[in-house]
Amino acid sequence: MKILFVSSEVMPFSKTGGLADVAGALPAELTKLGHEVKVFTPRYKVVDKEKFKLKLAVSDLKVELGENEYNGAAYVSTLPGSKTNIYFIENDALYDRDGLYQQAGLDYKDNAQRFIYFSRTALDLCKKLDWKPDVVHCNDWQTGLIPVYLKSIYATDPFFQGIRSMYTIHNLAYQGVFAKDVLELTGLPWEYFTMDRVEFWGKLNFMKSGLVFADIITTVSEQYSREIQTEEYGCGLEGVLQGRQSDLFGIVNGVDYKVFSPEKDTMIAKPYSLKTIEKKHDNKKALLKQVGLPTKRGAALIGMISRLADQKGFDLVAEMIEALMIQNVQLVILGTGDLKYHTLLKDLEIKYPKQLKAVLAFDAKLAQQIYAGSDFFLMPSQYEPCGLGQLISLKYGTIPIVRETGGLADTITDFDLAKDFEHELGNGFVFLDYSAQELLKTILRALTVYKDEKAWNKIRLNAMRCDFSWKASAKKYETLYRR
Ligand code: ADP
Repeated sequence: MKILFVSSEVMPFSKTGGLADVAGALPAELTKLGHEVKVFTPRYKVVDKEKFKLKLAVSDLKVELGENEYNGAAYVSTLPGSKTNIYFIENDALYDRDGLYQQAGLDYKDNAQRFIYFSRTALDLCKKLDWKPDVVHCNDWQTGLIPVYLKSIYATDPFFQGIRSMYTIHNLAYQGVFAKDVLELTGLPWEYFTMDRVEFWGKLNFMKSGLVFADIITTVSEQYSREIQTEEYGCGLEGVLQGRQSDLFGIVNGVDYKVFSPEKDTMIAKPYSLKTIEKKHDNKKALLKQVGLPTKRGAALIGMISRLADQKGFDLVAEMIEALMIQNVQLVILGTGDLKYHTLLKDLEIKYPKQLKAVLAFDAKLAQQIYAGSDFFLMPSQYEPCGLGQLISLKYGTIPIVRETGGLADTITDFDLAKDFEHELGNGFVFLDYSAQELLKTILRALTVYKDEKAWNKIRLNAMRCDFSWKASAKKYETLYRR
């Protein structure tokens, strides 16, 4: 099949979250399965043309957005370690900025223009390349208009007839909702601005547009595909999703084990595997030194790597931190995001200088050192479409402590110390109620297992044996593309 994968971020070129990891890995896996895959993404400032050896492929990508005409170009390169072509759509007025979607916590005011231009040029570029995909795989709100375009203003052009679309929800909470007037910029006729199409409470909703018009909808875990059809998790779109239940599927993300494997990782102090697990301790020592925490005898080290957003459960951490710090534990937190959490974490760091370190940055190298050096990985998310942190941790023998939601529920099984060890499959610690007490109780349970050598060895064995490579997930996507 010819598959076009359209994503607003792609590893290792640009990243704010898990979408980038998916977009960097899944297309390469599909190429391996024998498909002809192209990836389209914007050329942001971080995508250095020389460093990534980008070559001009097409110029004159003109789109009219209301009264203004925008003109850009497309550059081509390949995904590292793969023959998959990736095209970067360039328009400096729209993308040559420090952030991907926002700066200093504020969304760019012209995000609608930026992603209308991206969605339209994605289709125009196919035609310019004379490359007709069988399926366009769209991702998140930034590409939500593509399925609509294919069934409206592009449908009369024979080139686009017969192209099917898949729309993947990576996070339903970010919907791309804009004022009504933005419809004029999209080029869509006003008859599309109705409740059963792209309108959402008097506004234009890009995510909803994708959900209504895509031929198939997927999201990144089975549990999340069920949750988003409820009022609690549906972010106002539960009705739309219920209506499309028969076309909605959950496929859990994989991990790129070329990057995230303790035996191959070049960023960590001492590579290790299940057989040489004792070397994990050297990584712990190196990490403590790196972030400036003292080595404390018998202390368990808990890592967190996360966007600092309400979704991720930092309010629970703040609520129970005092009770937790009485225990023999240390915490290393890496993240950026909402300023309120920056302040909160810096305050905690001052309060617990020997036990807690917060690094408020985006740092891929330190992230890998935390995955390798920590004993536990904490993800007490309110909701979690898939979550990559827990999957990466498993591979590093770093035991996840998670809330039972979305992809966390699908991938982490609670370890029960009372059970017969032989048959114990638990690879982490799980709690259901979103409350500080439950979180604390679960961490205390985890610490009991940490102190029990036999149990600790067993849970690490269970964790490191888990296989969340992309291959199985790519095959599931393949089946849906065929459909
Ligand atoms: P989300 O997509 O909601 O942000 P995921 O768990 O799916 O959450 O993916 C987050 C990815 O981003 C993981 O690979 C995680 O290691 C990485 N990450 C998050 N914050 C940082 C950071 N500050 N520095 C480095 N990597 C980070």
